[in-house]
Amino acid sequence: MLTRRPLLAASLAVPVIAALSGRALAQGAPSEATPGASSPGNANPAQALPVEETSSMQRPADAFLAIDLQNDFMPGGALAVAHGDEVVSVVNLLASAFSNVVLTQDWHPADHVSFAANHPGRKPFETMTLPYGEQTLWPVHCVQGSPGAELYAGLKPTIKRARAIVRKGQNPAIDSYSAFVEADHKTKTGLAGYLRELGVTRVYCCGLATDYCVAWSALDARAAGFEVALIDDASRAIDRNGSLAAAWQQLRAAGVMRVGVEEVLRG
Ligand SMILES: [Zn+2]
Repeated sequence: MLTRRPLLAASLAVPVIAALSGRALAQGAPSEATPGASSPGNANPAQALPVEETSSMQRPADAFLAIDLQNDFMPGGALAVAHGDEVVSVVNLLASAFSNVVLTQDWHPADHVSFAANHPGRKPFETMTLPYGEQTLWPVHCVQGSPGAELYAGLKPTIKRARAIVRKGQNPAIDSYSAFVEADHKTKTGLAGYLRELGVTRVYCCGLATDYCVAWSALDARAAGFEVALIDDASRAIDRNGSLAAAWQQLRAAGVMRVGVEEVLRG
């Protein structure tokens, strides 16, 4: 309980609730009445968003990439990220500001190499050396077609807006934290080409977990030539053995921007 980040959580709760109620108010009231009807002085960045989805492209050169918001990574799941469920409402809010919305799903066969259970005598969170390098062994998670692999139910508004859902980690012999390149650093998922064909030049990443799949996706997006921002308060970390600090060091060195939800919504 004490490991949560209270400042971030507290700073998020108000704007999100205000944003959602502000949008609801705007639907039924003349626009000039809305600011006075809600809280005066509330500098809510989301109020500038259109009330309904529009037919025109929103931020056509940007993509919003929400990583691995699946049941197994949520509290109670097989590989739970603490407080992972806290990001879902902000992810839905962020997704409403983009037309290029892409989701990922970790999607492993039951005999996947990353599962400790597939290596006799090995335990979850140990590491072992595989042909492509060092691999952390995980509890069995996100098995193809299982309830744990499904996208979190609260994510429905984002799922509805998604242009694509990228599944990764299908190869039994290679893990894939990244949405772009598998853990062998060679095999591509095709996402970079897809985004380029859409005319995307900037990628906003968020989701679970900051220090693994989100960070690796951000680094590979950068390596593929995109401008990249990681939305820190729309992500949550596993943070084992200093992994979060190490990830941020790499992200900074690669030129990945660290941004917050409000900043993204301001455009
Ligand atoms: Zn996995």
